[in-house]
Amino acid sequence: MVTIDERLAVIQPLHKFWYKGKVLGIDVLRLDLIHPIVSGNKWFKLRLNLANAVDDGFKTVLTFGGGYSNHLVATAYAAKKFNIPAVAIVRGKYDKLTPTLQSCVEYGMELIFVTQEEYKNNEQPDWIRQMAAHFDDIYIIPEGGANELGRTGAGLMDRFIDKNYTHIAIAVGSGTTLIGLRNKLKRQQYIIGFVPMKEGKYMEQSINKHLDKNKNTNWHLQDEWHFGGFGKWNKELITFMNEFYDLNKIPLDIVYTSKMMYGLNQLLLDNYFISTDKILCIHSGGLQGNISVQKDLIY
Ligand SMILES: *Cc1c(COP(=O)(O)O)cnc(C)c1O
Repeated sequence: MVTIDERLAVIQPLHKFWYKGKVLGIDVLRLDLIHPIVSGNKWFKLRLNLANAVDDGFKTVLTFGGGYSNHLVATAYAAKKFNIPAVAIVRGKYDKLTPTLQSCVEYGMELIFVTQEEYKNNEQPDWIRQMAAHFDDIYIIPEGGANELGRTGAGLMDRFIDKNYTHIAIAVGSGTTLIGLRNKLKRQQYIIGFVPMKEGKYMEQSINKHLDKNKNTNWHLQDEWHFGGFGKWNKELITFMNEFYDLNKIPLDIVYTSKMMYGLNQLLLDNYFISTDKILCIHSGGLQGNISVQKDLIY
C-alpha cells in the first residue's frame, strides 16, 4: 500500500488570467496530492482517531456513510494501514456495489447495509450501541469524522497556511474541517465555506456550537452553487472543471471542490473581494469520486 505522506502537499498558484487582477493572488493547497484514496481533509480527520483507537487497544473501528462517501473509502484504507479492522454502516441498499464501496471491500472493510430510514438514527446512542453490539471493543467514528479528534486533526492543516492569506476557501460537508481550521487559524483570516447541498446555510448554527468563543467570527457559508443538490451536477459544471484544468492544471472533484471553485469565481465576478486580498483555496481531495464522470473530463 502507498504511504500517506503529508509532505507531498504543495501550494500551487492559480494562473492570473483566472482572477483577472481582481485580487493579489489565489493559491491552492493541494492536499489531494498526499494520497489518491485517503486524500485531503479525510486523512487529517482520521489520523488522530485511528491512532487513538490503536493506542487504546480497540479491536475494530465502526463508521458511517453513503455509497459514494470519500470518508468511507478513506477510513477503509487508513484502517488497513493502522492494522485495525473496519466496519461501515452504509446508507441505502444497492443492487450492485458502487465503485467507492467496491474499493472499501477491497481494503477489507466489512459493510452493513441499512435503509435510508434506519440510517437516520446514526446519531442516536441507543441505535449505535445496538449496531456495535455485534463486535468486540469497537471504536466509533461518526459520519464524516465529525468528532472532537476529527476537528482537532483537521486543525492540523493550519501548518500549511501562511498568515498572509486574507481569505481561506473551504468546501463544506459536515463542517468538521471548517471548525478545526476556524479554531486554529488567526482570527483575522476570513473563512468562506462553500456548501455543495441545497440550503446548506442552516449548518452555520451547528458549526457555531463547536467554535471557540474568541474564534466564532470571520466566517460564513455560501450555499448558492449546489447545482441541484449534493452529488448533483450538470454540463456547465463539467465544462467549468475542464476549463479550470486546462488553465491551472489542477483536477477538481465533481462533488466538493468543483462547486467551491465555481462559487469563488462567482464571488470574484461580483467584486466580493478587494485588490489586496490574497486567497488560499483548500483542495480537499475527493478525486476518487470522479469515476462516474470520468469520460467527460479531460484529465
Ligand atoms: C468530505 C469532503 C469535504 C467536506 O469536509 P467536512 O469536514 O465534512 O466539512 C470537502 N471536500 C472533499 C473533497 C471531501 O471529500
